[in-house]
Amino acid sequence: MERLSDIGEIKRILGSHGFTFSKAMGQNFLVNPSVCPRMAQLCGADENTGVLEIGPGIGVLTNELCKIAKKVVSVELDTRLLPVLEETLAEHKNFKVINHDVLKLDLKKVIAEEFSGMDVVVCANLPYYITSPIIMKLLEDKLPIKALTVMVQKEAADRLCAQVGSRESGAVTVAVNYYSEAEKLFSVSRGSFMPAPNVDSAVIRLNVSDKPRIEVKDEKLFFKMVKSAFAQRRKTISNSITSGLSLSKEAFKTACENAGISPTARAEALTLEELGMLCNSIYDIK
Ligand code: SAM
Repeated sequence: MERLSDIGEIKRILGSHGFTFSKAMGQNFLVNPSVCPRMAQLCGADENTGVLEIGPGIGVLTNELCKIAKKVVSVELDTRLLPVLEETLAEHKNFKVINHDVLKLDLKKVIAEEFSGMDVVVCANLPYYITSPIIMKLLEDKLPIKALTVMVQKEAADRLCAQVGSRESGAVTVAVNYYSEAEKLFSVSRGSFMPAPNVDSAVIRLNVSDKPRIEVKDEKLFFKMVKSAFAQRRKTISNSITSGLSLSKEAFKTACENAGISPTARAEALTLEELGMLCNSIYDIK
């Protein structure tokens, strides 16, 4: 549908389907016509690429993705949007919708079945109430995805794109940096959405690395340690990590000495490499 990004057209379509927005499902639809083409251009899709989209809404971004990608598969939780998508994307034969909760879907299977022989990227305007769980699932499941280009709230963008070892960093920053390189692409004002949220947004891209960017001996232990360290970020790592991992202070002190790290440091002061070294020396003494 050519005029799909026109606000009058969007209102007409929603009205004709009697659609009402669900806050619980994070439904803020894009109504700024310049945003979707830009996102689609920057997500790395071309005629050989499969795009996995999460939350197509009425298909404004999907429409742009279908124009440039080989195939687009969108996962949408809200069943009420299926007839809307059928109407708005009728002309695109390279589009498929899966009506499911993305957090409960076996995405490895979806990618293998839908995108055989294609490079795969993710492009989505994410439902904000589950931004981090979705990003963590996409990264932790080690899916064969080249990049994730996602719209998130500005505060989430700042945290996801922060440097590990800076005040803005958190456990999710460490995870994102472990699996990928994050970059902020552009900002999007709150007025670009209907209904308008209370905060501005940003589009970020996570370029997924072929292998994790540091080597750790036990990945599970690494993420458990990182979560403990940032759960009580104002405390010293000696206090937060020993309680999170049920380690004695003595053992932790030895691990820190072996890694050349001060046990009185705060989590947000440690680089990705230092966190990796600390985890490996905890693993060695355990
Ligand atoms: N892509 C559209 C746009 O840009 O206008 C809509 C984006 S809106 C921020 C988020 C979309 O995600 C909505 O369509 C919502 O119904 C859908 N959604 C919410 N929770 C979901 C979930 N758990 N799994 C799949 N889709 C979900």
